[in-house]
Amino acid sequence: MSNEAQVRADDRAHVFHSWAAQGRIDPLPIERAQGSYFWDYTGRRYLDFSSQLVNINIGHQHPRLVKAIQEQAAKLCTIQPAFANDKRGEAARMIAEVAPGPLNKVFFTNGGAEANENAIRMARLHTGRHKVLSTYRSYHGATATAITATGDPRRWPNEPVAIGVVHFWGPYPYRSPFYATTPEQETERALAHLRDTIVFEGPATVAAVLLETVVGTNGILVPPPGYLAGVRALCDEFGIVFIADEVMAGFGRCGEWFAVDHWGVVPDLITFAKGVNSGYLPLGGVVISDEIAETFRERPFPGGLTYSGHPLACASAVASMQIFKEEGIIEHARSLGEDVIGPGLAELAERHPSVGEVRGLGVFWAIELVRDSAGTPLVPFNAAGAASGPMNDVAAACKERGLWPFIHFNRVHVVPPCTTTAAEVREGLAILDGALTVADGFYA
Ligand code: PLP
Repeated sequence: MSNEAQVRADDRAHVFHSWAAQGRIDPLPIERAQGSYFWDYTGRRYLDFSSQLVNINIGHQHPRLVKAIQEQAAKLCTIQPAFANDKRGEAARMIAEVAPGPLNKVFFTNGGAEANENAIRMARLHTGRHKVLSTYRSYHGATATAITATGDPRRWPNEPVAIGVVHFWGPYPYRSPFYATTPEQETERALAHLRDTIVFEGPATVAAVLLETVVGTNGILVPPPGYLAGVRALCDEFGIVFIADEVMAGFGRCGEWFAVDHWGVVPDLITFAKGVNSGYLPLGGVVISDEIAETFRERPFPGGLTYSGHPLACASAVASMQIFKEEGIIEHARSLGEDVIGPGLAELAERHPSVGEVRGLGVFWAIELVRDSAGTPLVPFNAAGAASGPMNDVAAACKERGLWPFIHFNRVHVVPPCTTTAAEVREGLAILDGALTVADGFYA
């Protein structure tokens, strides 16, 4: 059997895939990757406009990051969390240095869901309350509390799991759940709705408001002006912990270290993963305010993970943050959004009637595809969260031309690595241009 045939055979026989009906998938075998591209076994090259699951912020196979992992592996692969370790401490210090306000301690996890689980645990123990408020248009991970806090349909087949989660509507100016006609009105009504939710749930029962600073998989929803500051003020008024989920939006994705930096808002807890080390090794965590850390000064924190602060993963985070700083990646991500991706997508929207809205910042953009001037989504939402019908045709048109897109429901998310060059972005947008004629074919 050729390599490719063997990979396919092993995969089909033995790998149980995430989110999939196992008999209805045919995963593409991938052999290697470099920078903004990856290759399959036939030598076919794909421009990665997905950053995989929006995590390869510094691109594939960055040589300095690979070397840092190799060097750490030669010295110390693993040591349990109760020990102090140079890379663990250095990674925590570097993250605290770029985190806003008095967020100075880091609890390390293996990924984003565990980060949210532990942030919720901290908020509950800190406040002595149990409820968590999170938005309908959100994804927070697939572990018990994180999937319950998730608002999108991936929650449904998992219910009932955890108790004490209450959902509310966040702002979404393009399809306003509040019938607002301006961003300012959206902010005002969304905050009034959150206040009502808190009041009717009982402020003394609400431990945390958990939200994605910029909503990721559920549509790249950039909060309208004043919204996050308003959430901060409500949390202060009612003694609620504000947890900002920056698993997808953090570490350069939005053109800042953390997306909250755009609005100068300081949450009590920030959860992160993905971009912290571009997923070269599994790593996530919670950045913790001094006030919440103080709760656990004399009282043990009742949570832990065998691989918390894993030296290899932490070494990769240290190297990644050095690369971010020395190679100006955050600034590059910001200007890529302002000068290339944003204008490029706006230009596509002018020519393609199927593009209903363009929105985003940094290297975190989405276009919504519609089938008429009323903005009817090109495909309905489905419980699997997958693209269907026409969106699959759009995806196929991209892939045939060598572009790997990130597609969710009726949206194409344009989320290449933060290190992608302007020329590579233009190459991808030209392919998307061709694929959008497929979507235009469904427009009436
Ligand atoms: N939070 C957000 C905003 C995410 O986008 C994700 C994953 O996509 C998660 C949490 C879960 O992270 P993980 O898959 O590492 O558990």
